[in-house]
Amino acid sequence: MKFEQTLIEKLRQAQRIVFFTGAGVSQESGIPTFRDGLTSIWQHFDPELYATVAGFDNNPNKVWEWYWDRRQAFKALEPNAAHDVIAAWQDKAQEVTVITQNIDGFHQKAGSQSVIELHGSLTMDKCRAQGHAIEHNFNSTSKQQPSCTECGSLLRPDVVWFGEALPDEAYDQAEIASFNCDVFICIGCSMDIYPAANLPYNASASGAYLIQINPNATDLDETAHCNLYDNAGVVMPALWQAVWGNTDFI
Ligand SMILES: [Zn+2]
Repeated sequence: MKFEQTLIEKLRQAQRIVFFTGAGVSQESGIPTFRDGLTSIWQHFDPELYATVAGFDNNPNKVWEWYWDRRQAFKALEPNAAHDVIAAWQDKAQEVTVITQNIDGFHQKAGSQSVIELHGSLTMDKCRAQGHAIEHNFNSTSKQQPSCTECGSLLRPDVVWFGEALPDEAYDQAEIASFNCDVFICIGCSMDIYPAANLPYNASASGAYLIQINPNATDLDETAHCNLYDNAGVVMPALWQAVWGNTDFI
């Protein structure tokens, strides 16, 4: 895979890098996308029932069990080469921030330390009444829906459902990172989910070098300084090798 010299130099020199990841990155680990595309989970299940507060209130146990099945399936999956390269980049720049729209927790699993999760995470639960956060117990063999240890209300997955706003703090942090980076790399994002889709434009407007990695064209193509049209699992290892001359991300 050939890369432009400008791209390689920008990446080699960048001290503040943002990796902004979307469904495309998780998909290569075998995780079906939740929001977009033909393989989306919502092509097969009604999001009104499983991904809204009203659906949860109507039948909390059904929703809990549905997510329990998804979480069991996730346990067998692993981060892919794109996650590994992103995690390894922490040793190559002063400030590496991952902003993700994915809810699988795979960036952390791969070793990334600074991860902003815009749509929450399946690794966490929160209570319906007061939002008390509790780590999800993946080792539980029971589908029985647990209650909050602090207030007794039912637990739900701590993910952003349809009709819910993004978590304020996460989005604020993501905005700050996007306005203050040298290089912003948008990977596997469909670029049609707002307000998250604003972030690369923020970065570009602030003078960052904007790279997009996606097998498909998106609305961002014209703004990006460099578009790499392929899957992240292919491009990221090749890019690492071109920039650093080794395969030390493994
Ligand atoms: Zn609670």
